[in-house]
Amino acid sequence: MRSEPQPHPDPRLLPVTALNGIGAQSAARLEKLGIRHVQDLLFHLPLRYQDRSRITPLNQLLPGTTALVCGRVEFTDQIQRGRNSVICRIADGSGGELSLRFFHFSVQQSQQLKPGIQIGCFGEIRYGFAGLEMVHPEYRLVDDPAQLIEHTLTPVYPLTEGISQSALRKAARQALALCLQSRSAIKDWLPAELLQSRDYPSLQEALQTLHTPPPQLSGQILSATPLPALRRLAFEEFLAHHLALLQGKLAYKQWPAPVLHLDAPTKQAFLAALPFRLTAAQQRVAGEIEADCRQNRPMLRLVQGDVGSGKTVVAALAALAALSSGYQTAIMAPTELLAEQHFRNFSHWFAAAPTRILFLSGQLKGKPRQHTLQALADGSAGIVIGTHALFQDSVHFHKLGLIVIDEQHRFGVHQRLALREKGQTGGLRPHQLIMTATPIPRTLAMLQYSDLDISVIDELPPGRKPVATSAISSERRAEVIGRIEHWVAQQRQAYWVCTLIEESEALQCEAAEKTAAALRQALPNVRIGLVHGRMKAAEKEAVMQAFKNRDCDLLVATTVIEVGVDVANAGLMVIENPERLGLSQLHQLRGRVGRGNQDSYCLLLYQAPLSQTGKQRLAILKQSNDGFAIAEKDLELRGPGEVMGTRQTGQIQFKIADLERDRELLESIPAAAQTILDRHPEIIQPLIERWIGRSRHYAEV
Ligand code: ADP
Ligand code: MG
Repeated sequence: MRSEPQPHPDPRLLPVTALNGIGAQSAARLEKLGIRHVQDLLFHLPLRYQDRSRITPLNQLLPGTTALVCGRVEFTDQIQRGRNSVICRIADGSGGELSLRFFHFSVQQSQQLKPGIQIGCFGEIRYGFAGLEMVHPEYRLVDDPAQLIEHTLTPVYPLTEGISQSALRKAARQALALCLQSRSAIKDWLPAELLQSRDYPSLQEALQTLHTPPPQLSGQILSATPLPALRRLAFEEFLAHHLALLQGKLAYKQWPAPVLHLDAPTKQAFLAALPFRLTAAQQRVAGEIEADCRQNRPMLRLVQGDVGSGKTVVAALAALAALSSGYQTAIMAPTELLAEQHFRNFSHWFAAAPTRILFLSGQLKGKPRQHTLQALADGSAGIVIGTHALFQDSVHFHKLGLIVIDEQHRFGVHQRLALREKGQTGGLRPHQLIMTATPIPRTLAMLQYSDLDISVIDELPPGRKPVATSAISSERRAEVIGRIEHWVAQQRQAYWVCTLIEESEALQCEAAEKTAAALRQALPNVRIGLVHGRMKAAEKEAVMQAFKNRDCDLLVATTVIEVGVDVANAGLMVIENPERLGLSQLHQLRGRVGRGNQDSYCLLLYQAPLSQTGKQRLAILKQSNDGFAIAEKDLELRGPGEVMGTRQTGQIQFKIADLERDRELLESIPAAAQTILDRHPEIIQPLIERWIGRSRHYAEV
């Protein structure tokens, strides 16, 4: 047996200040990159590489490429025309020549570049005034050209202010050397069976390759396919995230939960009072929820169902089960408007129930708020509906048995997980029902919802007709306005949705105000209302109520109406600048019309000219009314980064994996995770720690 090498300090624990050249100040700066320990440097991968493994003769230079060259200075000139600059011409005996151009230079620099001196440069070649040139190359005076050559490709790391590329390179090189010495440091947790079947290198090899790739790899690195070394790391990272969610689920399911039982007569009475019969899909999903709630382990279930598929009443059945078992239900909606609508529906559905239904949002203040909090704490309120204000610290429940989160896509995965800690009473954890109209493509669901069981309401209530959708250039705006006039003359109502870059609510509201003003001018006989996110809740409510009461014909709105409005007589929707929104979001907006059994229309008023993708995207909406199909297409066209990123706050941040580049890896993650759960459960925690840290929202909830 070989003798073990001397134990080295564990690089996981060594602070970066242990490296030469990294003092307290640099360490503070590196922290901005998430680098604290020596090992963190290893997972800070280069963005790209430079090839300094060979010197290109000057007569072989190609404009547009980057090259390492070496030559002797022929002359150096200061040029006073225009911007002051220094030009230095070099030659290398190959017959070629190259000009080096500097705009920022010191006197010392220009004196250094004396004729005859040998200099090595690295930079991009381009055409200049006098033939080929490099602008501000990195350069070095050398005695021997061999000094310039590097034996691996040179990594280019993402930087932060105050840390130079060369400082980071030096630090990374040291970190790599330290970690490679100590075999336990960057332990390869992945079992061989997962690595071999995929032809992945070991972790050490992978890191070494990525930080110091051999020059032969330069071709492969330039091509679009990621190196196996990189894929391996991305695979491991995805796996860690997936495992973290799964583990969160398993851990949550260890807790006891109240048994919620819904007896048949109570259920029948509730259903009989509804003005409609549940669809088969609603019945199936309600059954799945009932079965979950009868367990003494908490339910964690996601209900996906297209806009208008009738998720709310399914949630109401779950609340009924809680209520009849003596437990409270909290229902959280992402907007006031939606919460208010649920409140109205529930108040109606539970009118006969011997309990109080309450509303709670951030707007509720003073005495009314006190009373609401009191009723939740003493149990006299059986159902509370509200916004995220429901989960503030001041809210205490008497016996919370069920949490319903509606339109989950508006909340991030972290927010959702944080809620799990809320609302435990007497050691029991509430059941959780999460509802979304945003169909998440299966592969992405794995990174978002693998801690949940999924039910799908894949059927719309009978009699719904698809919304006839057309795309119209904004040059034909006048025509569209004419169409509204005609529509309203037939006693129907319509929406006009103004979109704008979503981050700026202020701008979006301003645009809606302007549009409303312009439409009022163009359509003096049409009663026009306006809602946007900056209005007070009471104002919004008044406008919405007027619209519902048919006291208003055309509702101009920002995307706040995406969720929450349900007016059957409104069968026409104009969406301005649809090219700015995701397809799923457009589909949801459009879901506001087509609620009744009359024909309904959606006009996508786009800004010409549309890009090719833009055209394709709108065409998909025209062709399909199926939210899932639309989401899949959106994913294809825009890529997962955007699909997950634009709307959804608090998304998972990856260190290395890239949803775009590494998308095809996702398919294989669930099976790999299962292998680990079944056969190597001991590596779950270390993997999570490596990639996610000790973030409690994932691991401990
Ligand atoms: P979403 O799934 O988008 O949340 P809602 O729960 O708001 O859908 O339901 C949309 C509309 O359809 C509501 O007016 C609701 O009362 C009605 N609805 C729900 N289920 C049925 C059904 N089975 N038959 C007819 N109408 C229904
Ligand atoms: Mg809904």
